[in-house]
Amino acid sequence: QKPVPSDIVISRSCVPKPIDCMAREVGLLSDEVELYGKTKAKVQLSIMKRLQAQPDGKYVVVTGITPTPLGEGKSTTTIGLVQALGAHLKLNVFACVRQPSQGPTFGIKGGAAGGGYSQVIPMEEFNLHLTGDIHAITAANNLVAAAIDARIFHENTQTDKALYNRLVPINGGQRQFSPIQINRLKKLGIEKTDPNTLTDEEVTRFARLDMNPEAVTWQRVLDTNDRFLRKITIGQSPTEKGFTREAQFDITVASEIMAVLALTSSLADMRQRLANMVVATSKSGQPITTEDLGVSGALAVLMRDAIKPNLMQTLEGTPVFVHAGPFANIAHGNSSILADKIALKLVGPEGFVVTEAGFGADIGMEKFFNIKCRYSGLRPHVVVLVATVRALKMHGGGPKHVILLFTGCGNMKKQIENARLFGVPVVVAVNAFKTDTQAELELICSVAKAAGAFDAVRCSHWAEGGAGAVALGQAVQRASESPSDFKFLYDVELPIADKIRIIAQKIYGADDIELLPEAQRKVELYTKQGFGNLPICMAKTHLSLSHDADKKGVPTGFVVPVRDIKASVGAGFLFPLVGTMPTIPGLPTRPCFYDIDLDPETEQVNGLF
Ligand code: ADP
Repeated sequence: QKPVPSDIVISRSCVPKPIDCMAREVGLLSDEVELYGKTKAKVQLSIMKRLQAQPDGKYVVVTGITPTPLGEGKSTTTIGLVQALGAHLKLNVFACVRQPSQGPTFGIKGGAAGGGYSQVIPMEEFNLHLTGDIHAITAANNLVAAAIDARIFHENTQTDKALYNRLVPINGGQRQFSPIQINRLKKLGIEKTDPNTLTDEEVTRFARLDMNPEAVTWQRVLDTNDRFLRKITIGQSPTEKGFTREAQFDITVASEIMAVLALTSSLADMRQRLANMVVATSKSGQPITTEDLGVSGALAVLMRDAIKPNLMQTLEGTPVFVHAGPFANIAHGNSSILADKIALKLVGPEGFVVTEAGFGADIGMEKFFNIKCRYSGLRPHVVVLVATVRALKMHGGGPKHVILLFTGCGNMKKQIENARLFGVPVVVAVNAFKTDTQAELELICSVAKAAGAFDAVRCSHWAEGGAGAVALGQAVQRASESPSDFKFLYDVELPIADKIRIIAQKIYGADDIELLPEAQRKVELYTKQGFGNLPICMAKTHLSLSHDADKKGVPTGFVVPVRDIKASVGAGFLFPLVGTMPTIPGLPTRPCFYDIDLDPETEQVNGLF
């Protein structure tokens, strides 16, 4: 077999079709498409209305066994599978994938466009700025951060009356509330629209958010691996009159606004979710939202274009939506609902949409079902579970022996069971590497089938493109016609601790959970604040089914310690923290950026992978 060239060499060897041709091919009208150069376009949400009556296509989610830190090929399989279904089996298809953060592209991990002959192209466009969605999130997120600290400053340096007079200025000879301020009055139970009729007590309640600086939960973000911003002190200029406080930066994809983008279903819904984001607690324990800060409308304006999915293509000319890329631990790690919904309409009832869920099935898939599908109302037809020999050997205890591989298959069996808990048929895709033997690949397939997989198929799409995943495509087609009986794992109305316990026991195989004091305090706080009925988004290591990254295979006899619980009220979930989660990566001694450069003659980007 010929050696497979590097990802960038393969990506560059293929001339993408002009994106307006691609748009026409998939059935988009020219006024529904906004071109961003020749290889990327945004799709307007008006398409949802035009295709309202069109039945949806088949919905497939790609997940994986518990991976090694290198990744076992979920993105590569997502792309390989749509290339097989679209370019080889001649079906209407769409892949829906996440937009990667730029931080890792210049740090350790590199890009995320798939790999080998299964990639989204051009990979430099995909991995870098794309159409600016992440930058829009950075801008919106930091506007909230600026609004919070400015408000704390102004409230602490002005009298109630002066504050009120500035917040509700005289306009055209009289004071008037803005629509956002009327929303705030309603929330406070003040049924007045004439600013001159508020009592002194109402003026104070309206004007003072009274945020507790210690209880600000909103952080600043940027899309760079800048570890020295993990903890900072803000407000050190004398102009801030001593209002300093400790704060932090997160990477942009960890912003709640990214999770909002991924979970929203329309412009009106996004506006509402952005308004519902809780950024702090007041000194009397009330949740303070972006709507209280008056910034929610501006956020919707900044996110107006980001809400439109981005159209690109695979190496074999099949369409791809790249849209949203929330963190997979403190958020739910799945691409956008809107891209999936539009793609399902565009492919029509005989077509297939393949979407990817981050990390292993215990995390990405569980959140795909319990959070994403709960909000979208969509029901998947098939789960594709990616497995590799190298990861299963690691779960078995080492690379040497086929017995270890057999033992390691326990992890795959558990993840098959996990998928079946949701009542959806599972096809195992064994992603073949050059070093794997036929016997090893066959062993995985037979164990998978015996464990209840609908089918298990070897595939070589990394080395051969879509041709290497035709058998997988056919298995997915057959599975999509088999009966599925979808169900959620838990009822959102259950108490918070019960929901966490169900996930830990049923999906991770834990004996129980232990709520540490801070987590217990948050359970009480969120229940009191009325957020107890949100779905749960576990922030747990992806490198083990348990909370301990070193426990491989199928750990048993453990209790999951929940250290703290946080809330993304606008996005719509609570996230229990199991262990510590870095929310901004650092740079290694020799980051990827050493190899990245621009050729001034050809304007080509070199060194991405
Ligand atoms: P995940 O989405 O599960 O994190 P990716 O699809 O991004 O994994 O793959 C991780 C890395 O492994 C990528 O660099 C990809 O090119 C490479 N890779 C995936 N499958 C294979 C394979 N069969 N042979 C060699 N390399 C592969």
